[in-house]
Amino acid sequence: MSSSHYDVIVAGVGAMGSAACWHLAQRGQRVLGLERFDLGHTMGSSHGLTRMMRLAYFEGSHYVPLVKRAHRLWGETGAAAGLKLLHVTGALDLAPEGLGPIESSLQSCRDHGLEHEVLGREAIARRFPAFQLPRSHVGLWQPDGGFLASEKAIYAHVGLAQARGADIHTGEPMLDWQPTADGGVTVRTERGSYSAGRLVITSGAWIADAVPALAPRVRTIRQAIGWFTTRRPELFREGAMPVFTLSVEEGNFYGFPLYEHPGFKLGGPHFGREPIDPRDPDRTPSATQVRLLRECLARYLPDANGEPLTVRGCIYTVSPDEGFIIDAVPGLPQAVFASACSGHGFKFASAIGEILAELSTGARPAFDLSAFSLSRFAA
Ligand SMILES: Cc1cc2nc3c(=O)[nH]c(=O)nc-3n(C[C@H](O)[C@H](O)[C@H](O)COP(=O)(O)OP(=O)(O)OC[C@H]3O[C@@H](n4cnc5c(N)ncnc54)[C@H](O)[C@@H]3O)c2cc1C
Repeated sequence: MSSSHYDVIVAGVGAMGSAACWHLAQRGQRVLGLERFDLGHTMGSSHGLTRMMRLAYFEGSHYVPLVKRAHRLWGETGAAAGLKLLHVTGALDLAPEGLGPIESSLQSCRDHGLEHEVLGREAIARRFPAFQLPRSHVGLWQPDGGFLASEKAIYAHVGLAQARGADIHTGEPMLDWQPTADGGVTVRTERGSYSAGRLVITSGAWIADAVPALAPRVRTIRQAIGWFTTRRPELFREGAMPVFTLSVEEGNFYGFPLYEHPGFKLGGPHFGREPIDPRDPDRTPSATQVRLLRECLARYLPDANGEPLTVRGCIYTVSPDEGFIIDAVPGLPQAVFASACSGHGFKFASAIGEILAELSTGARPAFDLSAFSLSRFAA
């Protein structure tokens, strides 16, 4: 059994936790990162090759300052690690004209001076011939969007943190934690107990175990993603195909250009909520989800409706308003958390890691976090 003291312990080394480890270590903090599984495991929210980066943000204009900061940090972190983490392909939101996603993405561009262009159906067909869209559809094009090499990003954050002295323990879940009389924490694992001045809780779908106040606020759902054989790969390669979101009657889908896999990646339906207990080890997507992916391809991206090469499930937590929760544990300022990134959090991880590092070292974050407070849900 070991017992050691750290400045900060980070519980959960996925997207958010790995970024927090790096930003803390960069600030000279002695850091311990505890991870339940291993890096790159497939039981949480962050595995796989890619996650989308969008700056035009239909989920709300208030996310844009944060995503701009994240965009910049991904570039800097990639440069520091010697890895290409951010691929800028442009991002396209596709939806019926006048419908919520287009209008709110457009508003976020106007509010924050983001370069953008509204494309009619013919213009989309000329520039991106892989799409066969319904007559009603238009596109909002934002050139700075793209995708992140997601697992690579976690490895980059961890590697950089380790190079600054962070200890990262895999296969060692935090079993529980307690506040101490001197304003710090003790954390217990199967291997021992650790003390620290601060605790950062980034345990994804398991977060309510460590922050019971979240239990009534977050639920975990399952998502499907698939990589499909394309008949015309030239239409789907980086440069010809941007990242996109697609709102159609079958649901909300999102896709990526070909990257490190021979198949075209499509995810969704994004708002199809299938609950799952994270302790259930089966991550297989449901037959309904897979059928909807195929239907989406058949109707709107027919040249990518080939053999499914890889079909995976993934889980994430959802808050009541689909927004993030970034806060301190009620009554215990020495423990901060980031949770419920509701299926769109990865792109923010670099900036959220920085915020968690600031919150746990007494620095004032540059962002107004009130939209992400836990207290917004108080009855
Ligand atoms: C299919 C899918 C597609 C997505 N697409 C996008 C996208 O295109 N763009 C985007 O921005 N976002 C996307 N997201 C959302 C994004 O991936 C998540 O918001 C993000 O990965 C959440 O990161 P996290 O660190 O909170 O969770 P995780 O990465 O799951 O990390 C939590 C970690 O904590 C560990 N853990 C749990 N309990 C403990 C414990 N007690 N002690 C120690 N460790 C513990 C877990 O093992 C896990 O590694 C998608 C999500 C899914 C599932």
